[in-house]
Order: sequence, then C-alpha cells, then structure tokens
Amino acid sequence: MRILDAFLDLLLPRRCVLCRRVLGDDEEMVCEGCMESVPFIHHHEFLSNEVAKLLWRRAPIERTTCVMRYIPDTHSSRLILAPKYEGREDVAEWLGQLMFRQLADTDFFLGIDTVVPVPSPPEKSRERGFDRIETMARALVSEMRQAGYDVRMEAEVVLRPKDDVSQTALSGLQRVEHIKAEDFKVVHPERLTGNLLLVDDVITTGATIVAFANAISMAARPASIHVLGASRTAR
Ligand SMILES: [Zn+2]
Repeated sequence: MRILDAFLDLLLPRRCVLCRRVLGDDEEMVCEGCMESVPFIHHHEFLSNEVAKLLWRRAPIERTTCVMRYIPDTHSSRLILAPKYEGREDVAEWLGQLMFRQLADTDFFLGIDTVVPVPSPPEKSRERGFDRIETMARALVSEMRQAGYDVRMEAEVVLRPKDDVSQTALSGLQRVEHIKAEDFKVVHPERLTGNLLLVDDVITTGATIVAFANAISMAARPASIHVLGASRTAR
C-alpha cells in the first residue's frame, strides 16, 4: 500500500459499503463476510439461462446474463441501489469491475466490439452528477481492455428523452412496462457496429432492455446484440 493511502486510511478508514466494518488491505468495497452473502449467479450455459429465456423472441438478442440476483432489502439490492440513492459513484465503478471479474473465466466477452450502457432519462443522471449505468459500463470496459479485449465504449449514441407527463403519472413499475423502442432515440447509428454488449443495472421484466435492443436494431446495423445486467430480480 502506498504511504499516502496508508495515511488516508488512518484518517478515514475504508469501510464495507454494506456493514460499515473497516476493510482489510485485501478487501475492496465489501468485506469478505458480506461478499459471501451476495447472491451471485453462476451461469455456465448462456444460451439457456433464465434471463436469456425471458428476452427470447422479444428482441434480436443473442446472449444474456446477469451477475447477481436482486433481492429487495438484502445486500444485493443495497449494492445495486447505492449508486442511485446514496450517490456512490465508487460503488457503480466497482460493480462494473465485478461484472467483468465474475465472467472473466468464461467466453462471454469473446468477440464483443462495443459496450453500450442503457441511457437514463436526462433528469435522472443529473440528480447525482453521474450516470450510474454509464459509470458501470466504463469500469467494465476498462477491465476488459486490461484483460486484452479490443473493445470500445459508446455512450450518448442513444438518447432517452425526458419522461412525458402521461408516463410520469404512472407508478415506477408501470413506467418501466410502458417503455417502447420508440422511446429511445438513436442519434449515432453509425457507431453501433460490430458485436454490441448492452449493459444495465437491474433486469426485471426485461421491458427496458428489449425496447433498447429493438431501437438499436431498427436504426443501426450491428452484427449481433448481447446483454449483461448487474442484477436480475428474483421471480
Ligand atoms: Zn461487510
């Protein structure tokens, strides 16, 4: 550990984002004990996993997987929601790294040319000064590059216009269900080429990612579309 880091740790010890226990030198963001309770999903067969099944026939998506289960009021939901409600940009970054590390030993990333984060509505990303999904995707791309993948990131090539009045009147889940491909505006179709990996934080009904994938395939000509979610709600 660098001297400056050691000094800062004395003043402001790094704590587990879940239980607040002071982290050891070899622990990052979440302590070992809490990490054991994170419900990771270990998929070995991407084509037949349950998230892939959820999206089949609804959009031209070839492979889909998620890294952990999203279980309300548990460690998994607190991790996923920390960037959103606590403004923890560092947790979003760490989640992106985790998305790579959990699948690093598989062939999931083979052939991926471009990573595309699902855009947030404009007012949402301004609330915290950062877009959590974009931050996650950027960290994922950085890990992929370090591992030797020749991959680029394309943010802001698709816009998600501000929610209109009729949408705002609906409750959270209804709003998600109402998302259509037309709600996304592809502003740079020429950059959406090759094999795309779409990234989102939570996949629930799949409505958002299906609409996003359909918007892209209608406006651009990607070779293929794949999906990676940080989490997946339990059924
Ligand atoms: Zn902990």
